[in-house]
Parts: sequence; C-alpha cells; structure tokens
Amino acid sequence: MIPVTIFAGRKLAVVGAGLSGLATARSLQEGGADVVMWDDKEAGRTQAVEAGFAVEDLSDADFGAFAALVLAPGIPLTHPEPHWSVRKARSAGIDVIGDVELFFRAREASCVDCKVVAITGTNGKSTTTALTAHLLEQAGRDVALGGNIGTAVLDLPPFEAGRTYVLELSSYQIDLTPSLKPDTAALLNITPDHLDRHGSFEGYAGVKARVFAQLGPDATAVIGVDDEPCRAIAETLDGPYRVKHIAIGRPVQNGVWGADAILVEMEGGNEVARANLTGIGSLRGAHNWQNAATAYALARSQGIEPDVLQEGLRTFGGLAHRMEQVAKAGRVLFVNDSKATNADAAGKALGSFDDIYWIVGGVAKDGGLAGLEPFFPRIARAYLIGEASNAFADQLGDAIPHVACGTLDRAVAQAAEDASRSQAAEPVVLLSPACASFDQYPNFVKRGDAFKQLVLQRNDVTSLDG
Ligand code: ADP
Repeated sequence: MIPVTIFAGRKLAVVGAGLSGLATARSLQEGGADVVMWDDKEAGRTQAVEAGFAVEDLSDADFGAFAALVLAPGIPLTHPEPHWSVRKARSAGIDVIGDVELFFRAREASCVDCKVVAITGTNGKSTTTALTAHLLEQAGRDVALGGNIGTAVLDLPPFEAGRTYVLELSSYQIDLTPSLKPDTAALLNITPDHLDRHGSFEGYAGVKARVFAQLGPDATAVIGVDDEPCRAIAETLDGPYRVKHIAIGRPVQNGVWGADAILVEMEGGNEVARANLTGIGSLRGAHNWQNAATAYALARSQGIEPDVLQEGLRTFGGLAHRMEQVAKAGRVLFVNDSKATNADAAGKALGSFDDIYWIVGGVAKDGGLAGLEPFFPRIARAYLIGEASNAFADQLGDAIPHVACGTLDRAVAQAAEDASRSQAAEPVVLLSPACASFDQYPNFVKRGDAFKQLVLQRNDVTSLDG
C-alpha cells in the first residue's frame, strides 16, 4: 500500500466503495487522514463497513468540512450529469479528485526517484500495460503494475528508488487526475466510446490527450497514429519531451511500425532495430501488433535493449479472455475471447484466424453483428448461443452456415467435432461472442472460465496454459 500522508489530520469524503475506493480509504487513513465513505449502493456501503470505515449518508453533509472529495472513476463527474456529491463539493469549493491524483500528489511529496509509465487509449490498454510491465520485468527492473488493471494504484507497493510503476489509465481516471505527470506516456488509439460520460467525442479525445499534458524534458510520448483523432493530437505534440509514433502497415520517421508480425524501430527515418512477433500466440493480429509496438517503444524509452525486448515479447503469456489460446486437439486450436463483448472487438479476433468455428451470442449490442461481413469468408460455421440466437441467425442468413446451440456446452461440443474434420492447417474453435454475457453468465470472466473448463475437460485436448 502507498500511504497518502498529505492530508494527515484532515477530513476527506471518499464516494464509491469499490476496489479503488477502499484502497483510497486505507491509504488515507494510514497516512493520518480522517475518512468518511459513502456508496449509493448498499453492497458498497456494506463492504466499507466490513472493511472498518466510517460510512455516513453525505447527502446532508457540510462538504466545507472536507479537504477534498475522492470520487471513484465509475461515478459521473460531468456527464450525463455530475453526481450529487460532485455538485456539493463544487459548491463548497473543494477539490474533486480520484485515487490516481492522490498517487501523483503523494509521489511528488515523497521525492523518491521512481518512474511512472502511463498507458491509455480506447482499446488495448490492458494488453499493452501488462506487456510493458512484462518487458521491464524480463529486463530485471523492479515493476509495479496497476491502475485500471488488477491492482488499484494506492494498493501498489510504496515508492522506492528505481521502481517503475506501469499504470493503465481509463479516461475516467484521467478526468479525476489534474496532477497527472508520468515520465513516459502512451496513447494507443481513440474511437468513439463512453461518450455518455464525456459529453462529446471532442470531450473524450481531449481527456485522453491530457496524458501528455505535463510531460517533462526527459519524458517520452508514445502515440498511435492509425486513427484520425490520435493523428490530430500527435500534431500538437512538440515537446519538450521526445515523441514516438506507432503505426501499423506504414513506416514512421520516429517510433515503431508494424507489418506482417514484424516491428521496426525507427529513428530519424532510419531503421535501428527489429522485433519478430511471428509465432507468438498472445500477440496475434494487427491490433496486437499495435499493442506490442507501443509496449516496445515504452520499454525502449526506459533504456531496454532490443534483444532483451525480443525475448520478452516471446515469453509474454497474454491476458486471460482476450484471444487466449486455451488448448489444442491435434491441429485444432481452442481460443477464449470472451472479453469481446461487441462486434468491433470480435472483429479483431475474426481477423486473426483463417478457418474459424465461431461461438457467438449472448445479449447483443446495438447493430448486432453489423460490420463483421468482411470476416465471413474466414468462418466455416457459426454456433449461436444465448438470447441473440434468433436475431443473429437472421443477420447471418445464407452468408455463413450456422446452427442454434442454445448453451455453451452444446456449442463447444459441436464446434469441436466440426473443426476436427477440417483439412485446414489450423482450424480454430473461437469463443468471441460479440455480446454481453448476462443472459447466461454474471460477466465475461465467468463466461470465459466456463468455456475453458468445457474445453479442458475434453479427453482429446492438450492444455496450452503456461
Ligand atoms: P482495454 O483494456 O483497452 O479494454 P484489452 O487489452 O483488454 O483493452 O483488449 C480488449 C479487447 O479489445 C481485445 O479482446 C480486442 O478485441 C480489442 N483490442 C485489443 N487491442 C486493441 C487495439 N490495439 N486496437 C483495437 N482493438 C483492440
């Protein structure tokens, strides 16, 4: 835990008693502050009480008595409308901040020589953050990984000289972090997302761009330039820090570009090194080349040599539920992409394989499978599950053979049987549902775990775990 001492002896309101809220309360209390918590949901309040914190209904509280309001990132700050606690804090003239802001303020106050690498973007944040941490660890660095992935920032080990904090940051977290000042920052990509919470696309892109706003002269800004909003931001980046561009499919002057599973590092228009992603199962697909190129650039900015990075890339196990290679049965590969809860995400997986036995369905998002048509030639057959079955059957029509399976167990059995008869070099049984899970599972993790269990209990498979 990182104790936050800058509010010692003062009273703070912590609203939102999830993982990060509880970590915040612990850190502030450890640092000598007086913490009062609230959560609009009873389950949250119960958690806070069980963790030993004072819980008070703050709707009538005098916010002038608080030094600041620490808000959980899931609670609206500005849109669709500010949470009532934000309105009260604003009228009382106190700061509204998040746990990441406390992290940066505490770091500033601690004067310890540690580094912070911050990673944001619409997609690929977790993969890139985990890979960056892995590359640094493989190079022998002392790394702490957290933020929007896994561990809340204030639950990370205390500041120590030489330690590198690799943080995944969501736009909500950045919005609550005016003192965001990493040593190296990356913005992967921007596509319309979470617009309800940021008011507009411009608002959302503006928040993402703030990851670079306070970089110092020794810092490096790494930015993907494959989409228009990021290119517009890249044009505004002119130092004092170094800027590295990441592109897929076309070269860059300074930075890293990727094509056909090869990463090329460029400086002043000249190639300085290469890394090869061929055969690395966890980094398949052009979207993962973008993630890998970004992590490579970040690790290079920390002084890691290319040959060490090549080895680190090779040993990256990938994240669960994101194109996770679960097992093989002969030539048939079983892949768990349960995290693909919309068509866009499923498209990334469908574009990464050639002979696909596709398990799809659940609670459909707006548009259903629209946009996935270009991938249809790669799909041998679709196995429909859950609520979306009928609608998806209509949408697929005659374009791809499909069968209604209802549940995952039937889909896995049928897809495995069909795939085993394929003559292709690598038939793939792919769970990439393009849907939310909650008609049949509490969340995508449980759905992915169920898929893995069904696959691993088959007597013809060899696990690829570890
Ligand atoms: P995030 O943390 O931003 O949600 P993840 O690394 O968890 O991203 O990946 C989630 C899903 O997003 C993946 O399963 C994949 O479908 C898609 N994805 C991953 N990386 C990228 C990328 N660079 N560009 C576009 N989509 C991506």
